[in-house]
Amino acid sequence: MQLRYAFRLYPAQRQRQALAQAFGCARVVYNDALRARQDARAAGLPYLKAAELSAAMTVAKKNPERCWLGEVSAVVLQQSLRDLEAAYRAFFDGLAGKRPRIGAPRFKSRKDARQSIRFTANARWRITERGKLALPKIGEVEVRWSRALPSVPATVTVIKDAAGRYFASFVVQAADDPLPETGAGEGLGIDLGLEHFAVLSDGRKIASPRFLRRAEKKLRKVQRAVSRKQKGSANRGKARTRVARVHAEVADARREFHHRLSTMLVRENQAVYAEDLCVKGLARTRLAKSVHDAGWSQFIGMLEYKAARHGRTFARVGRAFASSQICSGCGFRDGPKPLHVRAWTCAGCGAEHDRDVNAARNILNEGRRITTG
Ligand SMILES: [Zn+2]
Repeated sequence: MQLRYAFRLYPAQRQRQALAQAFGCARVVYNDALRARQDARAAGLPYLKAAELSAAMTVAKKNPERCWLGEVSAVVLQQSLRDLEAAYRAFFDGLAGKRPRIGAPRFKSRKDARQSIRFTANARWRITERGKLALPKIGEVEVRWSRALPSVPATVTVIKDAAGRYFASFVVQAADDPLPETGAGEGLGIDLGLEHFAVLSDGRKIASPRFLRRAEKKLRKVQRAVSRKQKGSANRGKARTRVARVHAEVADARREFHHRLSTMLVRENQAVYAEDLCVKGLARTRLAKSVHDAGWSQFIGMLEYKAARHGRTFARVGRAFASSQICSGCGFRDGPKPLHVRAWTCAGCGAEHDRDVNAARNILNEGRRITTG
């Protein structure tokens, strides 16, 4: 299974300059190639092949106006061309109906929030004995290794985000790591909600942790500050940078929380079931913001790959089964209930239900039904 691992990088001043140059060169190569394709199309010429773009780049390096391209690792520039190829392929596949439609490749800008370059195996990048990331023409960069890599990665992407932070992102092949079976236990149903982050079929209710709520509160505050600054002013620019930084903090805090909770639930249970969110459908409604904030799909994705990796069962259950209208004990349909009704008594069997725990139990029932056939 392929997993992505990202680690914070702390480049020295000189290395930050070299990285800025590499981001810039990768962008110029990408944009030159994109423009060449667009010009060829406008002139009614055939679609330019990747080899022709690559040859054009080699010629451009000899042009005094583009000679600085030679100061950056050639592999990084080649990779930039391959990224353009991938963007075109995704675009054409969308037109052909092979995948969801996306827009045509667009020009990159120095103002883009996210800058990145990729080093493949033949770029001769490596992790040094002292744990630094050695990048060609950039140097040995300090890394904070927050967890161990399960295998040696072939490529590394270096990213600078909108908050000015640097990351190394690796895609690695991770072997399965089955956990001992938990023995007894029927599995766990998870109901994702707004009031609690999650309610479990065993009755536990899990709130968003305080560090995350605090970060979110701070984010709302700095967002309000931006709207009070005059448009185009230097202060507004500063406030926006601040928002980007706090945004990054919130995303980190959320990911951390999702990792901790998903690891815990997968370890504790032989089978885990969650509702299929169809986030795309929900995103068009007023719920969009809270769906986005709660980051449910990120969490469910973690449950899924961790379950697969650790030999656990995982399944998504259709929304209809997450219902708070159906008694999880006897299956009696009790009819719709307004959101303020938090508890009810089943008219069929007399069971007392907490609305959300009952929904989680329905998810568990349906999950077991669909996975045991
Ligand atoms: Zn009942």
